[in-house]
Amino acid sequence: MQNAIEKQQAYEFDVYHKRNVAIVRGKGATVWDEAGNTYLDCVCGHGVSNVGHAHPKVSRAIAQQAETLVTCPNVFYNDKRAELLEKLIGITPKNLSRAFLCNSGTEAVEAALKFSRFSTGKTDFVCAMRGFHGRTFGAMSATFKTEYKQPYEPLISGFSFAPFNNIEKFREKVTDKTAAVILELVQGEGGVNIADAEFLHEVRALCDQAGCLFIVDEIQTGFCRTGKMFACEYFDLEPDMLCVAKGIAGGMPMGAVVCSDKIEVPVGRHGTTFGGNPLACAAALATIEVMQEENLAQQAREKGDYLAEKLTARNLSKVREIRNLGLMFGIELKVKAQPVILELLDRGVLVFPAGSTVVRVFPPLNVSFEELDIVIQKLSETLA
Ligand SMILES: *Cc1c(COP(=O)(O)O)cnc(C)c1O
Repeated sequence: MQNAIEKQQAYEFDVYHKRNVAIVRGKGATVWDEAGNTYLDCVCGHGVSNVGHAHPKVSRAIAQQAETLVTCPNVFYNDKRAELLEKLIGITPKNLSRAFLCNSGTEAVEAALKFSRFSTGKTDFVCAMRGFHGRTFGAMSATFKTEYKQPYEPLISGFSFAPFNNIEKFREKVTDKTAAVILELVQGEGGVNIADAEFLHEVRALCDQAGCLFIVDEIQTGFCRTGKMFACEYFDLEPDMLCVAKGIAGGMPMGAVVCSDKIEVPVGRHGTTFGGNPLACAAALATIEVMQEENLAQQAREKGDYLAEKLTARNLSKVREIRNLGLMFGIELKVKAQPVILELLDRGVLVFPAGSTVVRVFPPLNVSFEELDIVIQKLSETLA
């Protein structure tokens, strides 16, 4: 029964803090392990399966496209890619007019950093303390946490950091060499920290004054997780580039950077083999249609508020603070997160950490209220 675990332990080049369970199947908010035990999935690939596992519409779209055309290099046009691009431009902030398709979050950030240097002719970037943008060299250089970066130095030069939500400190960091400021609207890895509207508007104005670009990383917050298709909508924010990935294609690997007319990169100066492949595009199209048809943004708002209300009412002794925007949901604990996460695993609920004392609870956005009640019950038993 422990077949998958034993094999992976033998053969995987492992860089992860593993939990001792092999997940083999999923449906909606439920996943199954090899022994047939079920779990309520509030990890969702760190915000990937926002529409739930094995959504019939998404599964069908993937199966149909797999039988039609899987790969098509970017030197040719493709019907599914065209449809997806039109859809993406239709749902992102109005000033964004073109998208570059890639395969992951970190690739979307890399593209945004490269496009910034090219479009402005400047070199530097200002980033937020506790921000996370990915693991490749550019995205890692924009990430705050030393443990992720230090072993790999030297990093890309020109990155500096200011405290999140502190406009004065950002003003001090932005210079005439700054190509872009990059921010998450709710910091995910950094502990589910929500941006102030005022701060974001001042960053927008600061970038315009300094003649630099504003990159918004909605890789985790995007695709209805926070209760809007994009968190930008809460703040009426028009970034120069929007990085997206995670939830975009219901679990198929995909990323994109959606650009305003200010962004210019000539033909031949960037590229990808797999980016915008028809299989991922078909999955993304179906996923976004599900989000619209099932009104997942509204569901995320209602369910996030429900979860926050019910948990707050229980006055749990281990809880310091609950922070959420929709189902971008974090519980800051008075104790370490890891033992709590393992106890919840034993109780059949999967959650994940954000730093050492925050637990993230990210169910699919179409999770039922009955399922949420179970999550609330198990969290209460564990955190009382
Ligand atoms: C996950 C994440 C990334 C990196 O995405 P990958 O697909 O893992 O490369 C970047 N930024 C944010 C905010 C993320 O949550």
